[in-house]
Amino acid sequence: MTETPVRVRAEIDLAALRANVRVLRARAPRAAFMAVVKADAYGHGMVPCAKAAVQAGATWIGTATPQEALALRAAGIGSDDARVMCWLWTPGDPWREAIEADIDLGVSGMWALRELTAAARAAGRTARVQLKIDTGLGRSGCMPADWPELVEACLKAEAEGTVKVTGIWSHYACADEPGHPSIALQSAEFADAVRHAEGAGLRPEVRHIANSPGTLTLPESHYDLVRPGIAMYGLSPSPEVGTSEEFGLRPVMTLRSQLALVKHVPEGLGVSYGHHYVTPEPTTLGLVPVGYGDGLPRHASGTGPVLVAGKQRTAAGRIAMDQFVVDLHGDEPAVGDEAVLFGPGDRGEPTAEDWALAAGTIGYEIVTRIGTRVPRVYV
Ligand code: PLP
Repeated sequence: MTETPVRVRAEIDLAALRANVRVLRARAPRAAFMAVVKADAYGHGMVPCAKAAVQAGATWIGTATPQEALALRAAGIGSDDARVMCWLWTPGDPWREAIEADIDLGVSGMWALRELTAAARAAGRTARVQLKIDTGLGRSGCMPADWPELVEACLKAEAEGTVKVTGIWSHYACADEPGHPSIALQSAEFADAVRHAEGAGLRPEVRHIANSPGTLTLPESHYDLVRPGIAMYGLSPSPEVGTSEEFGLRPVMTLRSQLALVKHVPEGLGVSYGHHYVTPEPTTLGLVPVGYGDGLPRHASGTGPVLVAGKQRTAAGRIAMDQFVVDLHGDEPAVGDEAVLFGPGDRGEPTAEDWALAAGTIGYEIVTRIGTRVPRVYV
């Protein structure tokens, strides 16, 4: 497959994804596994990744938006094989369709509960609801002060038959910084919220708070279900948590291109927009036909790494929309020679984490931003 001529492609190693799911399940052996596949599975392709995760034992699939969840259901995922849950609702979203598609609905507050109970009544169905408590992320989720009111309203809706509370859940702010004091505070707040809800009479099937770092490093956070995203794609949540290699995780995406031009140039040639790189001597330049239009971070101009003909090179000058240049320092690879931007890293190529470092961002953003112009090839 790698022989097919192509400007750039993202090879997605589904066997690696399945192996990563197994590694993560072994870390949380008593918990169910929710594969987080929002944002097109962090750029890896939502439906193929969800299917691979289910093959490896995931019994839940998580998305942010209801549109993502509905797309999974339309692809046949989430009936007998796994449950689908989504959690990011915006006014005007398709509540009724989601209820009719048997999707678990993450709910952070009263407005959402009102919308969904109305939709459930109209559909003549019971909505499966998972209540989110904001234990300290300060993003979505119900504030602890408002929790009793939300729990009370759910009990009423359960009595009416419009709602069944299937889950109680939360999300960490700093689990990727081991030892951060907020971790223990959030864990305690979560335990309180669960205690309150169960004491009031709710009987959730699943309680969950663990993302990738929680799954990898905080066994007490596993509860009934873990919800890893980035680690399933083989990347570490942060250098502080550890390297993917240390956890036995293998990066799933390889971004592969080939040289589109090799040319001899004199000393003193300004390279790419702004002339931020000037050749220090007569040299050969190679053109890598990939740019920020494909999702590469322009911030990695002058620093982004790429393996060309067996040697790591660095983007010389600005990364443009469709292309960037490497100084080959007198080497003479041929047009068509392989240029690997990132991959697992065990064949000398850089990793997505190397690109993150080069661009001052996180591995999550590197893979997620690889755009629709880049074909995904499943290997
Ligand atoms: N759960 C929720 C609610 C999320 O928003 C995310 C991603 O941000 C995850 C789980 C997975 O997080 P991670 O990729 O850090 O494992």
